[in-house]
Amino acid sequence: MIKKLLNRLMGTSAEKPKFGKRRVAGFKEHAINLDLVDERARHVVLTLQERGFEAYIVGGAVRDLLLGLKPKDFDVATNATPEEVKSLFRRAFIIGRRFRIVHVVYGRGRDHEVIEVSTFRAYLESADAEQVSGSEKTSKKALSNMSHAVDASGRVLRDNVWGPQDEDAARRDFTVNAMYYNPQSQEVIDYHHGIEDAKKRVLRMIGDPVIRYREDPVRIIRAVRFAAKLSGLGFSIETKTAKPLQKMMSLLADVPQSRMMDEMLKLLQTGHAIASIEQLKKLSLQKGIYPLLDVVVDRSTQVFVELALTDTDRRVSENKPVAPSFLLACVLWSDVRDAWDRHLEHHAPHPALQEAIDEVFYSRIGDVSGRGKLASDMREIWLMQPRFEKRVGSGPFTLVEQARFRAGFDFMRLRAVAGEIPTELADWWEDFSLEDDGARADMLDLIKQSTPKVQRVSKHKTVVQNGTATSPDDGAPRKRRRRRRKPSADAPPHSEA
Ligand code: ATP
Ligand code: MG
Repeated sequence: MIKKLLNRLMGTSAEKPKFGKRRVAGFKEHAINLDLVDERARHVVLTLQERGFEAYIVGGAVRDLLLGLKPKDFDVATNATPEEVKSLFRRAFIIGRRFRIVHVVYGRGRDHEVIEVSTFRAYLESADAEQVSGSEKTSKKALSNMSHAVDASGRVLRDNVWGPQDEDAARRDFTVNAMYYNPQSQEVIDYHHGIEDAKKRVLRMIGDPVIRYREDPVRIIRAVRFAAKLSGLGFSIETKTAKPLQKMMSLLADVPQSRMMDEMLKLLQTGHAIASIEQLKKLSLQKGIYPLLDVVVDRSTQVFVELALTDTDRRVSENKPVAPSFLLACVLWSDVRDAWDRHLEHHAPHPALQEAIDEVFYSRIGDVSGRGKLASDMREIWLMQPRFEKRVGSGPFTLVEQARFRAGFDFMRLRAVAGEIPTELADWWEDFSLEDDGARADMLDLIKQSTPKVQRVSKHKTVVQNGTATSPDDGAPRKRRRRRRKPSADAPPHSEA
């Protein structure tokens, strides 16, 4: 109380927001196509409602449905606590510390679907929350028993106090992200003129944007992401929402690495990479959000990186899987090549490449704890590249059967499209991967028999003069092994499988 009074006297208290006026829009107004609503999300809502809880589809899914888009995932909001939600579903897990939610899981393997269920959050003035010195990074222990905590700058570090729906709506970021859809009654509940803003094609932050960015600086990146995603529909960021973005960008320095990495990947891997880079430039945010993102933006006009970004966007639009390891391997490839060149002065090619990869990881990605798979997949893609140029002996047989062959091959194909290696090499490997062992052995024989005059201009570039690309150590007579193998499994390119 005293803290609150002092804050008021000093004028530092955040103005209590208006919670908005509850408006209920019927089907005639919102015209949401129920067929676009995921069955499992409807099941979650229905199960909760049957137990007497309030439950709605919420957030981005309602925004997308309203705009006639198929949502990529579904979130549900309810007045049931995480424990109550968990008790109603067979496979449900409470996750998160800063923001506790429940993951309700349906199906298994590739086809599994996770419905995120969050409990309505209460509005709490920062002055009422527990104050923590330091940041999310430095105060993990102190935060462990707190349900609502902020740091000295007003950043929300814990947000687990439950409340009514109108307060929950006021805690959300953009007006178009703060609507609730009840698929049973087909009604949309709207407190902040979300329907109106969707019609006007405006991205507007709820409340005072400066306070909202301070509470959670990641909202700065979210503004860019939604502006990019919805730019094709004519959306733009409202002036008051856009104005503080650049000035407040420095607050992102204190956000934990893992959250920054996730947000960066959402910008680049949700089908709007090129549009996101355009928005970053338009909003003068192209430098300073996150070091690795700076590199991506900086290199986005290089042919190879641009191809990788465009290809990622295309794959997402075709509902194909994409892996962060593939895109990041593309973005950092020129670093690896440069470092490899340097290390070749003191090491043989393979250890030189290993050294180069370690160096690039250390300087560009840093602490990848918890991202071991990302790191090992990137490493594998890079280490495969010189092996594509060695078309002799048993090497190609083992390479083509490698679990990550497809990603390594796609990477090599992009290098070919970018003009870094001959297209024939990519074509040859494509054929090789589709053949059975007998035909593969014949393909290798053909390579052996042709005596191409090949000039190596650099370690990374092979010039073909006789129509066949090969590496300098090709041609050595080796014993042919004929084994019967199944044709290679056509794993989806880029996939992490
Ligand atoms: P997408 O289509 O990319 O999933 P989304 O709007 O659903 O977009 P999510 O990250 O899935 O985004 O979050 C779901 C909802 O939770 C948002 O629509 C918003 O209402 C709320 N939300 C998420 N992150 C924040 C945040 N940092 N601050 C305020 N509200 C947030
Ligand atoms: Mg979502």
